[in-house]
Amino acid sequence: MAERPYIVGNWKMNGTRAMLSEARAIDRAAQRYMKVEVAVAPPYTLIHAVHKEAEQIGVGAQDCHPGAEGAHTGDINASMIADAGAKFVILGHSERRQDHGETDELINAKIESALDAGLRVILCCGETLETRDAGEAEAFVLAQLKAALPAFQDPAERLTIAYEPIWAIGTGRTATPDDIAAMHGAIRGLLDETYGAEASAQVRILYGGSVKPDNAREILATPEVGGALVGGASLSAENFLGIVVGASEAEEV
Ligand code: PEP
Repeated sequence: MAERPYIVGNWKMNGTRAMLSEARAIDRAAQRYMKVEVAVAPPYTLIHAVHKEAEQIGVGAQDCHPGAEGAHTGDINASMIADAGAKFVILGHSERRQDHGETDELINAKIESALDAGLRVILCCGETLETRDAGEAEAFVLAQLKAALPAFQDPAERLTIAYEPIWAIGTGRTATPDDIAAMHGAIRGLLDETYGAEASAQVRILYGGSVKPDNAREILATPEVGGALVGGASLSAENFLGIVVGASEAEEV
């Protein structure tokens, strides 16, 4: 892997202040694994508290509105989450696409606004099982990315891609290392074409979908896997740290 592996926990719609003890435990332990970059994306309501309590790990948001401030009841924009302490935002997660009808064009607008606010972006992509079974997974994922990728010249450090096959999210099923390597290789090809090989090499491609302590090492040792986006297993410090350990071991292979 070109850079430190990046392990990001997506807490989704989970967590009250009682979860801060998990964030503190993750933060304390992460200091022992400096070869791994560790971050969590709690719900909006906990971003500021996690930012204050956890000094070693990165804190981010799970979404943002693409607009400037204004009359959008219930929405939160990129500058607001940056002000709360977020350093990055996850955009285009399949649950947002499904639950809120988010299109690639909307996701592109969100990315541009997040970058303008100084945030790093984790852009998610991934196919359904029907699309994979039809042999169209790669074309589908590349089309998603082409439509959503930002137009900036130098994505270094500001852009991360997360490949998350929808059928592997929260199901206990994971893609095989060969499938992951093939898809990540295709994504790398698109990044090379879009930004040039040197800039593309700085962009980590994470895998997401039922990553757990017992499969993390194998997944993270797969070619072109630069880390993991972790849902369910990130809700317990013990499980999440098991994945951080797997990343650290994969790095040594
Ligand atoms: C996710 O939703 O980003 C995810 C990868 O979830 P899980 O780890 O629970 O499959």
